[in-house]
Amino acid sequence: MGSSARQLGEFELIRRHFSGHDRAEGVRLGVGDDCAVLAVPPGKELCVTTDSLHEGIHFFPGEDPFLLGYKSLLVNVSDLAAMGAAPHSFTLSLSLPDSDDAFLGELARGLFSLSSELGMALVGGNTSRGPLGICICAMGLVGAGQAVTRAGARPGDLVYVTGTLGLPGLFVRAGYHELSLGSAQWREAHEGAMHMPPRCALGQSLCGVASAMIDISDGLVGDLGHVLRRSGVGAEIDLGRLPVHPLPLSLLPRAEAISLAAYGGGDYELLVVVPPAAEARLLSLAQGVGVPVARVGRITAGAGLALSLDGQAVEPQRAFAHF
Ligand code: ADP
Ligand code: MG
Repeated sequence: MGSSARQLGEFELIRRHFSGHDRAEGVRLGVGDDCAVLAVPPGKELCVTTDSLHEGIHFFPGEDPFLLGYKSLLVNVSDLAAMGAAPHSFTLSLSLPDSDDAFLGELARGLFSLSSELGMALVGGNTSRGPLGICICAMGLVGAGQAVTRAGARPGDLVYVTGTLGLPGLFVRAGYHELSLGSAQWREAHEGAMHMPPRCALGQSLCGVASAMIDISDGLVGDLGHVLRRSGVGAEIDLGRLPVHPLPLSLLPRAEAISLAAYGGGDYELLVVVPPAAEARLLSLAQGVGVPVARVGRITAGAGLALSLDGQAVEPQRAFAHF
């Protein structure tokens, strides 16, 4: 964002880049007043979540603004998917070092590429000067009492993971110069870390099927730990069954690639817990929306997570936390 670039005033910036995308069923009032006004249909409940991306913490300086716009919404809709909620609308709070028109145009393009795919309205926000940060609050609708929480896992249930794991973790390691990638590999890892597909359709279809769900943002092992604590159960996970992305597998020793898949984070895949009787239903729903799923373990009685690899017990590492 060079200072020679075209700069916009605050309200011109909002009007030019972030207005006119606020129409959706139930939006009584969108951008332009002190609050948006939303109607929740009878028999539905509103799921509300917020997540932010900060330069130097969640993405590397100089990141492509299209990808930043996309990912800032994706990380939020991933939480909606994990509850089984249908994406509805969102707010956008921007902290910007300057008001570069071209940068904002690309940010908006990335954001609206995903919101229009999902039919989400941008109903309000806030714009201030500061270090680059993008904070979104996303709202979704779920049938009353139907939200899939972290608390429903029961002994004997099966643990599934969508998609592949470990590519975003590989990109972060490359960004910190802990390994080097060729340019085609770098592009593949960058795409995997910034432009992953939303899992909303599958998440929504799992209301009444999954006993618990969570999205994998801080690493599979750490996020599974949240499900186990909230559900008051344990789990056995076979690390050899993790759907490790082929790129880390081809570049790293197998145990290191598996470790990236287990702890790397940033995957934004779903961890789905299903009773054995619902397994066939999960498989057919996942196939119907073209999302690969892999069974990685099962829920056990009593607390504790037992990890194994090739039949040997493995000690869990500490999961990611900001503090
Ligand atoms: P207020 O001072 O009442 O909080 P603002 O003057 O900050 O309102 O914003 C004017 C309108 O523009 C509000 O409706 C607000 O929701 C909307 N808005 C501000 N920034 C953004 C943004 N980045 N994206 C979308 N809407 C925004
Ligand atoms: Mg106001």
